[in-house]
Amino acid sequence: MKIAFIGLGNMGSGMAANQARAGREVIAFDLSREALDRAVEAGCLAAGSVSEAVADADAVITMLPAGPHVLKVYTDQVLGHARTDALLIDCSTIDVETARKVAGLAANEGYSFADAPVSGGTAAADAGTLAFMVGCDEDAFSRIETVLEPMSRATIRAGGHGAGQAAKICNNMLLGISMIGTCEAIALAERLGLEPERFFEIASKSSGQCWSVTSYYPWPGPVPAAPSNRGYEGGFATAMMLKDLKLAQDAAAKAGATTPLGAQAEATYALFDRLGYGGKDFSAVLQLLRGRLAEIGQQD
Ligand code: NAD
Repeated sequence: MKIAFIGLGNMGSGMAANQARAGREVIAFDLSREALDRAVEAGCLAAGSVSEAVADADAVITMLPAGPHVLKVYTDQVLGHARTDALLIDCSTIDVETARKVAGLAANEGYSFADAPVSGGTAAADAGTLAFMVGCDEDAFSRIETVLEPMSRATIRAGGHGAGQAAKICNNMLLGISMIGTCEAIALAERLGLEPERFFEIASKSSGQCWSVTSYYPWPGPVPAAPSNRGYEGGFATAMMLKDLKLAQDAAAKAGATTPLGAQAEATYALFDRLGYGGKDFSAVLQLLRGRLAEIGQQD
């Protein structure tokens, strides 16, 4: 199987590497030369542009920052350049409207498109254990599942076009809220004289248990793979979490849903971003809540 992989950043690099490791021919492209070189080291072939990468692919996978990037890449360089029998799968987290728009444009030109955002973070991207939430036509799902298999521990069809993105923004709103909650609890524990490492032992086995505690603890030590152990570099950038929380608030306003804690999480991450920490992993918000921003170094 020949895969065109576009967008080789924090997430895409590990995902493309797992496609190559599974024996697939991966033609990769990223605007960043450094990212492209990393993909070649991981067994991918480098293309000179998106249109060159997709030209003879059986499936196109995109992992780009946001909706405008996805719309532009598909309209300018994928549609009309890929074979019409190629499956087009966007794994970026973007707004539901753009996902539906791209699906419509693709369908007009005879392509099958799926929104298939992921959950799991960079550790799962590297390990090939992401969860995919897919919005697609029912009859395309099993082929999509096969394409995603080397990167996935679970692939779930959420519904028709846009449903994958709806699932993703709801999930990430919950994650943003739970991360801030975890950080507040650690900051309070510390003030009360309880060691954050000891609090981890207790919370990870008590009713406060959640992914932000057990898999991504924002205090260094208890979860070695978490970005807190490497100065909050890499991982899931605060600016990306802020983008997802804005998508959730926009969607909530349009749908008439009440999401007060989602709004509060957006405001907290907006402040952290405005202070200059948009490039740091989103778990670094702990240091804002501790009043210890100096501990995570210079602002970006
Ligand atoms: P990133 O910024 O590290 O990577 C994006 C890559 O896309 C960059 O390497 C950039 O050079 C490339 N790019 C941008 N425009 C391009 C274009 N026109 N052509 C080719 N390449 C282009 O971001 P990331 O952390 O890998 O996230 C990617 C997507 O995955 C985002 O939508 C994000 O919300 C989502 N996501 C991220 C995580 C995470 O933990 N980082 C988890 C789940 C979902």
